[in-house]
Amino acid sequence: MTMVQCGRCKGSGKIPNNSWGAPPGATQPCYGCGGDGSVNVANPPTPCGNCHGSGHVPNNSTGAPPGTTQPCCGCGGSGWAR
Ligand SMILES: [Zn+2]
Ligand SMILES: [Zn+2]
Repeated sequence: MTMVQCGRCKGSGKIPNNSWGAPPGATQPCYGCGGDGSVNVANPPTPCGNCHGSGHVPNNSTGAPPGTTQPCCGCGGSGWAR
């Protein structure tokens, strides 16, 4: 195992909060790393092929606002293959 920077939040531990009613600029703890900014992955670290390392994928759910994303199910949101 090795520690790498979380691909979703780029190490900040926070991501934009796009929930209904959240004020502009609001953030929430990153789901990819749990707010730590780094994640433990198997060696050698391999970017997730499903989200290409970003940790999130377009949210195509019915009714989802345009441009919103959801956690990648391939990597759990960290951007790194497990
Ligand atoms: Zn993160
Ligand atoms: Zn992924």
